[in-house]
Amino acid sequence: MHNKKTGPNKEKKKLVADWSSLIRVFLRPENETSRNTLVKYMRPILFGLHDFLNQHVGVTRKFSLKDMANYFTSSILSEQPEKKLDDVITDLIENIAPHAVNIASPYFVGHMTSAIPFFMVHLKTIVTALNQNVVKLETSKVVSVLEKQVIAKIHRLLYQKEDTFYDENIQNAHTTLGCFVEDGTLANLTAMWVARDNLLPPTKEGFEGVESEGILAVYNAYGIERCVVLVSRLGHLSLRKAGGLLGIGNKNVIPVDVDEHNRIKLDSLNNIIKDIKKDEKNTKILAIVGIAGTTETGTIDPLKELGSICAENNIHYHVDAAWGGPTIMSKKYRHLLKGIELADSITIDGHKQLYMPMTCGMVYFKDPARMDAVAYHSNYINRPGSVDLGIKSVAGSREANSIILDSALKIMGTQGYALLIEHSIETAVKFAQEIKNRPDFQLITEPQLNIITYRICPLSIQQQLDYADHEQRKAINQRLNEITRIIQILQREAGNSFVSRTTLLIGNSHKEEIVVFRCVLMNPLTDMTILRKILDEQEKIYRMILPEDR
Ligand SMILES: *Cc1c(COP(=O)(O)O)cnc(C)c1O
Repeated sequence: MHNKKTGPNKEKKKLVADWSSLIRVFLRPENETSRNTLVKYMRPILFGLHDFLNQHVGVTRKFSLKDMANYFTSSILSEQPEKKLDDVITDLIENIAPHAVNIASPYFVGHMTSAIPFFMVHLKTIVTALNQNVVKLETSKVVSVLEKQVIAKIHRLLYQKEDTFYDENIQNAHTTLGCFVEDGTLANLTAMWVARDNLLPPTKEGFEGVESEGILAVYNAYGIERCVVLVSRLGHLSLRKAGGLLGIGNKNVIPVDVDEHNRIKLDSLNNIIKDIKKDEKNTKILAIVGIAGTTETGTIDPLKELGSICAENNIHYHVDAAWGGPTIMSKKYRHLLKGIELADSITIDGHKQLYMPMTCGMVYFKDPARMDAVAYHSNYINRPGSVDLGIKSVAGSREANSIILDSALKIMGTQGYALLIEHSIETAVKFAQEIKNRPDFQLITEPQLNIITYRICPLSIQQQLDYADHEQRKAINQRLNEITRIIQILQREAGNSFVSRTTLLIGNSHKEEIVVFRCVLMNPLTDMTILRKILDEQEKIYRMILPEDR
């Protein structure tokens, strides 16, 4: 984090904010020299940035976050300009980029954020250059109809309705097949919002419904004491946020037990439903959520069975496919998502397995009238009957993400995405086998998609665990948890690679917290050679800390 701007030949004249230089940044440069300058500035963004990133992975010990924070302690805004564009770009490339996280490295396999295709930088730049605001037609025009089209394309991928359905809805100003939101969190929130408002609608007697009257009034009017959302205990935390924001309370987002494959236990779910039904407190089930690719283990709930349960009980069925949704593009693996078409609403994150730049959440609805419950109008925008996309949307102003998604789908084809997805799933299977082959490791979850959890647990200890009683197991696991935790931190800080960690609840009668390594395989450049090196490094760290362990 050095500052090179005051070299001997770089004596700069003092920058001053005046009208003529200010107005220049709004005018398109007409002469060749100034145009070339602007083009020149784009080059280091395309190439320089990557060169710098390529040398590093993760947050290394060399420069701790605490040391870095010391460079970011001034809160004084300068009155006059501090830097010109080229200095700012150089600064970002030389001083910021090297200390950012190289999520694009094939050795970075810890999170759901990874490399994106190069063309995304071009597409994102076009979105910025056009700077459309999709909240209303008057600031986006063609982009609004383009958005409706790309939403329909993904809807069709998920729901496979007939041609007539899409003919009728694709450009229908009154119906909504889905919408873009900031991220998966807001997609889940939107789905729960729509479910809540459909569950607690206006009445014939003039009661205006939950959106207008608020949660307390609606509970009184309907004689309800609480609303709950049921989801496996591997549900994403965004559902609890939605519980808080929607006023039902996040403790009413109820975690349901999972089986040994981390899928929601249907008998536990059925028991909860039965209990709620005979509950005199009058509890309403707002939604049941199936997960298509849990964040921690990548596993998929039995989507078809969940769909039947929801249909039988007339409950809103939401599928959180933020991670696993794009699997549907693979002919080979789409069967894993069977039943997703039964969902009343589906969450997909474009910035995960559609390899979109940050951020691109989406939510889809089976019934194109489902979002009517959350329509908002005003006199200056979103007038009734207009095509304004902001009418049914948590967000107001937003960027034209549809341009990026639509272009990416054209460049890649579903086959391109399928190849990426199949490669990740198949690499995960090989990696799982490699973990099983190594005596120091224990595979915790078999991959269903492309997320794997495992830990350090030498064969001899695995055998001890088999014969240990509850207390002994607890002690052994605590020790192993500590080891896995230390190795994860040391590996991260060494900066050669990055694997994340999480804590899973394992076991049947006695649940135990197990700290595991978590690997998310989505970078097409991550191969077995790299994954073996990552395991080698973990083994090496384990041997290194072993003496202390004894
Ligand atoms: C990532 C994820 C989310 C939330 O996504 P953000 O885009 O981080 O808000 C929700 N559900 C699941 C299953 C996820 O994997």
